[in-house]
Amino acid sequence: MSIFDGPDGHAVTSHFIDGAWTTPGGTTFPVRNPLDDALVAEAAAGGVAEAEAAVAAAAAAFPAWANLAPGARQELFLKAADIVERRTEELVRLMAVEGGASRAFSTFQIRLSAAMLRQAAGWGYQPAGDVLRSDTPGRMAFVTRKPLGVVAGFTPWNGAFYLAWRTFLLPMAFGNTTVIKPSELAPLSAGLVHAEILDEAGFPPGSFNVVTHAPGAASAVADVFFESPAVRCINFTGSDRTARILGERAGRSLKRMVLELGGFNPVIILDDADIEESIKAVAFGAFLHQGQVCMNSRKVYVARPLHDEFVARLADRVRALKIGDPTDPDVVIGPLIDDRAVEQIATRVQDALDRGATLITGGKADGRLYQPTILTDVPADAICTTGADETFGPLLVVEAFDDPEVALRDAQDTPYGLSASIMTRDRGRGLDMAQRFDTGIVHVNAPTMASEASLPVGGVKHSGWGRSGHYAIEDFTEIRMTTMSSEPGRYPF
Ligand code: NAD
Repeated sequence: MSIFDGPDGHAVTSHFIDGAWTTPGGTTFPVRNPLDDALVAEAAAGGVAEAEAAVAAAAAAFPAWANLAPGARQELFLKAADIVERRTEELVRLMAVEGGASRAFSTFQIRLSAAMLRQAAGWGYQPAGDVLRSDTPGRMAFVTRKPLGVVAGFTPWNGAFYLAWRTFLLPMAFGNTTVIKPSELAPLSAGLVHAEILDEAGFPPGSFNVVTHAPGAASAVADVFFESPAVRCINFTGSDRTARILGERAGRSLKRMVLELGGFNPVIILDDADIEESIKAVAFGAFLHQGQVCMNSRKVYVARPLHDEFVARLADRVRALKIGDPTDPDVVIGPLIDDRAVEQIATRVQDALDRGATLITGGKADGRLYQPTILTDVPADAICTTGADETFGPLLVVEAFDDPEVALRDAQDTPYGLSASIMTRDRGRGLDMAQRFDTGIVHVNAPTMASEASLPVGGVKHSGWGRSGHYAIEDFTEIRMTTMSSEPGRYPF
């Protein structure tokens, strides 16, 4: 399979199971460009049979993959990183036409993906356990870290290319085999292209598998993952709404889950902040990928003396961002993923305006191209400012504060806890505030979106649990305790 080799330039894709592409044919579903609904691919509409075959292949491949020498695994990951870089231009185009990603966002993902592959290449050499002290004479005790088995992954459509690597790579680097179910909105960049890359790199058959499904069929595939005894962990990246549904299922089947969910991601700009740096960090943090990233900034609290200048200059910067077809390398703001996403933003902006908010810039849609939007004077009960529900699009609320302690308290009045930022020239003050944020990630003088492959991403509260980077060893391995006694035991009876 090659991603763009179907009729009329669109791809025809199948599932990747046990080291082979399944025969095309059977039911398919269309994958469309969010900009103009042009056909990008006809993807295979899989279900229970394909999911079962993929899980069986991953289970069969597990013992050999788990026992592969770290050096052999390392070579494969390094080859995959080179292939990702070699295919940069093709991947940039794929992410633009399938997911509406600007060049800035797709190249950001490609860099992170290659970096993560190269880091994961060394993770197989991490210590495999610890020797422990025992109080029993003559007893030796030790723990060994073992991979879990098959890890089944759900990938989202946004940031799909990088996040699918995170879903495959982290478990595989620690010796697990994988089955991925990409989002039906972007199955190519959320899993299928990864299968091509891993296959070319020479990963063994069955070590990774991809099953795609039509809209509305996710649940049948998910059922197979939850019900199969071979699947020992579900690695989910997506919305807290879906996580609640899957979490209940995990409870019924007593499956371990890793959850990477949404966020509300506040920024606090203190009165001594560098205003130019703050404007750049907020424009990037709020509007990268037109606000459709889990770590996008949703609300900015600005010290009152800086507020008016900050808002005016931020608005100028944001108005200058080019909106349009993301295959144009100068475009920063591409289309939202679908009509539902446009509807969500439009409704929330209108709700805030109806309650008396001030529109600083944006607020209009042209098809699925929604202008980056800034609101101020937003009443506390407007949906977009309550922090109770993630607004997944290019909408930023800015609010002035007089007391930084009140800003810190208000910024945390949300069920989410993914990322936060503080802008200040006083690093000690910033660090002090950072330590009091109840989030998985907090930055001083960087955007809420500041991401690096080596740094652990993950949330608290409704933003999920589990961490990426090499901390993922906690999520994708388990510890086995072993003892060995060399003296006769003493027993009470
Ligand atoms: P989503 O929850 O709609 O879908 C995620 C995955 O779950 C997809 O594979 C989808 O097919 C599947 N799914 C959806 N409904 C299902 C059901 N009923 N049964 C089984 N599977 C189902 O999320 P999305 O719209 O694809 O992604 C956007 C969301 O993901 C946002 O909330 C965003 O904040 C979050 N996200 C979080 C991170 C992170 O690292 N914390 C990264 C990216 C995205």
